[in-house]
Amino acid sequence: MKPEVFKKPKVVVFDMDGTLVESFLDFKALKKQMGFSEDSYVLEALEEVTDPEKKKSLLNQLNEFEMEGARRSVLYEGVLEFLGFCEEQGFKRALLTRNSQEVTEFVLKKFNLNFGLILNRDNLKKPKPDPMGLEIVSEFFKAGKGDIIFIGDHLHDLLTGNSAGVRTYLFNNGSADIKNWIEKADFVFEDYVSLKDILEESFK
Ligand SMILES: [Mg+2]
Repeated sequence: MKPEVFKKPKVVVFDMDGTLVESFLDFKALKKQMGFSEDSYVLEALEEVTDPEKKKSLLNQLNEFEMEGARRSVLYEGVLEFLGFCEEQGFKRALLTRNSQEVTEFVLKKFNLNFGLILNRDNLKKPKPDPMGLEIVSEFFKAGKGDIIFIGDHLHDLLTGNSAGVRTYLFNNGSADIKNWIEKADFVFEDYVSLKDILEESFK
């Protein structure tokens, strides 16, 4: 573990699906329905589709799939308390997701969550794993990369943090796939209550 893993940050950046909310998105099943290979990533595979009609229809399918997930979504235990802890500590909060603007707004409104900066695939030119989102966070809050923590649940999040030079905390939400990328995280946690306790102790 890097010694600076628990250094007090200025900004905490969160992924949304699988990190703040369980949104029951079975991307493996979706990719099958969309005719994409199992090891592809949906946004990138969609970029490769050349027929505009087909692309539009696949994008609609993705949007509907994500909105359905958002309707069913539930907050993970301890998320509200952890966001409150960030506020008490004076940390700025940002959201960085590959989801759409519409679905992101729906989820934030549903749970009454607020972030100082919200980046999604519609307002960010290069989605994760490109480091662009974290570069923008750094500029927006005038915070150095060492003053940012990125919390996510997926390989995309870890690659984004690693290429931007930002610490990553991996939320182990119980997904079987996590073992495939756990090594790339700076820190792994199982629940927000213990994360809060660990940080509270180390920030003293
Ligand atoms: Mg996620």
